[in-house]
Amino acid sequence: MTKEQKEKYESTDSLRLLLHQLNGKKFKLDCGHHISFNHFLGNDITIYNGKRLKIICSQCGY
Ligand SMILES: [Zn+2]
Repeated sequence: MTKEQKEKYESTDSLRLLLHQLNGKKFKLDCGHHISFNHFLGNDITIYNGKRLKIICSQCGY
């Protein structure tokens, strides 16, 4: 990876900040389960990357 390519990548904290904007929001996932963001007892999620992100709970991610 070149230095310029490396500089295009933001830190996990930037991603965390983006995801914190979802604080308290509830979603129905592609697997049919639900998630409440920033809820410590809530489901974890697995995101399959690609043109259309597939987002399911981590229990269905195995
Ligand atoms: Zn699920």
